[in-house]
Amino acid sequence: MARYTGPDCRVCRRIGEKLMLKGARCYSPKCALERRPKAPGQAGSQRRRRLSDRGTQLREKQKARYIYGILERQFKKTFREAERMTGVTGENLVVLLERRLDNVVYRLGFADSRSQARELVRHGHIMVNGRRTNIPSALVNEGDTITWREGSRRTKYYAQLAQSIEARQIPNWLSLDRQTLTGKVVSLPTPDQVDVSFDTKLITEYYSR
Ligand code: SF4
Repeated sequence: MARYTGPDCRVCRRIGEKLMLKGARCYSPKCALERRPKAPGQAGSQRRRRLSDRGTQLREKQKARYIYGILERQFKKTFREAERMTGVTGENLVVLLERRLDNVVYRLGFADSRSQARELVRHGHIMVNGRRTNIPSALVNEGDTITWREGSRRTKYYAQLAQSIEARQIPNWLSLDRQTLTGKVVSLPTPDQVDVSFDTKLITEYYSR
């Protein structure tokens, strides 16, 4: 199953929840789900079906996948890795998802959404420990520094970001030097530091069948 590349808002309307996929727009009255809360479909009049247990598990898994913008195959691989770790699989899964470089770039406030963060990484704007890293799924480690490539610091985007970053809130497990726009992984995230809007227990049940 490939990554969904259609309109993000359609995903929210199909799931029936705000997944916050489009940055600032999600907080504005322009949010499609607030304007048209019905599921997409013929004349927008489809009723939401009552889901089976399996359907509910699938829905939670899809929510997590859409929120982090991950292909099914990669998501499943991450889940299997979470299973092999000690501790609670669902919690391990959240920690692994949070450690993705594209997520960290988003959490540091360098991008408005994870999809924008993914583009920044893919286009080589981001450096980890001084090395250009263009793999969005790369996992950060404790002590890693996340900075901008020298050439990227001369872009209009960077100049605007440097002006607006003051207002962004950074999670406790990360720190940010707002003068140099240098981020640091202070510690790896713990499950209680990550607020997720999907049920990891249901995702575990989904893959346990
Ligand atoms: Fe979802 Fe954001 Fe679109 Fe609203 S604006 S429907 S929260 S992606």
